[in-house]
Order: sequence, then structure tokens, then C-alpha cells
Amino acid sequence: MDGSYLFTEITDRTRAFQTEHPEAHILRLGVGDITRPLPQPIVEAMHKAVEEMGRAETFRGYSLENGYEWLREAIIENDYRPRGVELDLEEVFISDGAGSDLGNLSELFAAANRVAIPEPAYPAYVDTSLMAGRPIDFLPCTKENGFVPSLPQQPADIIYLCYPNNPLGVVLTREQMAQWVNYARMHHSIIIFDGAYEAFIQSPEIPHSVYEIEGAKEVVIEVRSFSKTAGFTGVRCGYTVVPKQTGLQAMWLRRQCTKYNGTSYISQRGALASYTPEGKAAIQANIAYYRETAQILLTGLRELGYEVYGGVNAPYIWCRVPEGYTSWSFFDRLLHACHVVCTPGVGFGPSGEGYVRFSAFSDRNDCQQALQRMKGL
Ligand code: PLP
Repeated sequence: MDGSYLFTEITDRTRAFQTEHPEAHILRLGVGDITRPLPQPIVEAMHKAVEEMGRAETFRGYSLENGYEWLREAIIENDYRPRGVELDLEEVFISDGAGSDLGNLSELFAAANRVAIPEPAYPAYVDTSLMAGRPIDFLPCTKENGFVPSLPQQPADIIYLCYPNNPLGVVLTREQMAQWVNYARMHHSIIIFDGAYEAFIQSPEIPHSVYEIEGAKEVVIEVRSFSKTAGFTGVRCGYTVVPKQTGLQAMWLRRQCTKYNGTSYISQRGALASYTPEGKAAIQANIAYYRETAQILLTGLRELGYEVYGGVNAPYIWCRVPEGYTSWSFFDRLLHACHVVCTPGVGFGPSGEGYVRFSAFSDRNDCQQALQRMKGL
């Protein structure tokens, strides 16, 4: 399970094909990066912040390591309070995105701590655990178990959960989330919950935060990002919630004070604008666009006879490859016959064999054209 190998290999194979067939118009449906530009209210807020930085009266230097209070207040007020979750300001830490914190949180734990990771998985959980030299138990997510991982066989100290899931595009129900929280409370585990795709949840019964589950504050660290919500993959801002009840809040604060000098004032002002009425409306318009693209892909692939999962509460579609193909041989077939690039599922873990991932962040016209081309496959 080597994530860097996966994306390098995709690039290499695509480039080799393009070199051999310079006339081919390649459609990229595998991308995990967003494609819509930043919403205008966020751009304006960041412009204003840049101007402030250029005037002596409004210039800002270092912010607090855990971020400006106004942003942490807005996060609690908008992302948690309406869902019945109360958090202290000191429990919210502004970051430069989920990616950094998912790696950095590893520093809170001993090398001997056992890690449980559902797979296929976003590669960072595995790579971070390998770098720390920790024993890992993989929890397969397959069609047979409805892509829901079983609880670990061996007691786990650290559990990575990602919902809505990348790459599977599936979510956990309230009951399934509660099972994990109860498991963690019973075994004194810490769940690192990656909620990077929370904004894509549209089914009303699905919890948006794991803290909606009773007792979760004792055992869960929740990692969120403005990347896929507000279009911040290139701006960089996210946040991590470390509740005091986990016993880790003070240690995380110390870690951040030692090794992190804060997220840029400009990014934080941009993130704050995502909570204004205009910001919220603009973000929802972008999310709606990606949702429609997901729907086009889901319907189109189904009509072509493919078995597809996810794509409703997440921007990813998990697609079974036709009989006789592996993830990579289907990737090659799609590339060569249709000039379409997807992401081979096996690159996210052994249980991803036999699947590919399509992304709703892809260009809408490219998706439609790709579906047309796949008719002839
Ligand atoms: N978590 C998951 C599941 C992701 O797919 C990604 C990015 O694709 C990230 C975290 C990283 O997000 P960020 O841009 O906030 O670092």
C-alpha cells in the first residue's frame, strides 16, 4: 500500500500513453483535487487581509499557535453547536490543512501503540504509522461486509476512521459510529476521525460530526479541512478538535507551540468568510456542482452496466471492474481504449483490488465525454 507509488505510476503510465499518442485527448477522472475556483466572498476577504498586512496600523505578525479566536468561535458556532455539540475554544486548533495534522498527531503516541486502519484507505494513515514503526492491523472493507470494517480483533490503541470515505465514497450510520465510539471507550483507544469530506453529506440521518455520538469526546480527535469545502487545497487551512476529555489536549497544545507557528492570517480570514451567509451560499453552490457531477457519473456508469458504490454523500465513486480485469488492467484498458484516467483501487490497499475510483472533482464535460467513450468499451 504505497500511496506515492500509486500516483507516480498513474502519472507515468498516462504520460507514456500521451507520448505514444500525442493526438489523444486524455480525460482525467481520477483527480482528488478540487477544480472549482475559490468563492468570491473568500477571495474578497483574503484581499482585505492582504491590504491589512500592508498597513502599520493593521499589520499582524504571529497568531496564536492554535489560531485566531474569531475563527475558532465561528467553527464552534457553525459546525458544532447546531448539531448539539459544545466545545471549548481551547479544544479547537487551526491548522494548515488536514494532511499535516493527520501526520503530526502521530507524535502524541508511543511507537509500540497498535494501530487499526480500515482498508482501502487514504494512504497517509498507513504511511504515518509505518514511519512511526507502529504495528498495524488492517480492517478490510469489501462488498461482502458492505464496505464497513469489522471491529479490530486485537485491541487497538489508535484507530483511523475516515467518513465520508476516500476512496470508497461511503458513510457510517449513527449506529455504526456509536459502535466504534463504544469500542474505543471500552479499549481505551483513540480514534483519529478524518472528516475532510463532511460537507458532502446530504442524507439527513448521517451524523456530520462524530461528537454527535455520546461519549465520543472521551476518545475521538476530529480532523477537518477547508480544502474540499471552501476550495482551500492551494490556500491551506483546516482544524483539529482535541477534546480535553481525551487527556491529550494539553499535550497537543504543547506540540503545536513547539513545532507550529500558526496558519497564515490571510488563510484564516478566508476561512472565516466561508461562514458568512454569502460565503456559505457560494460554497454550497460549488458542493452542489460536484454532487451533480457525482450523480452524472453514478447514473452513467450504472447505465453502462457497472456496479458502483458511494457518490451520494461523498465526491468519490467506487466502481467494480468488469469480470476478468484487475484494477490495473482495467486502468490500462480505459486509458488505451477510451483515453480516460481513473484511480486503480488496489493502490489504496489489497481490498481495493478489482475496483477503480472515479472522482466528481473532475471536469463535468470530461465526465460526460468519458461516459460516451466508455459505451464502446
Ligand atoms: N483526508 C483525506 C481523506 C483526503 O482525501 C485529503 C486530501 O485529498 C486530506 C485528508 C488532506 O486534506 P488537506 O488538503 O486538508 O491537507
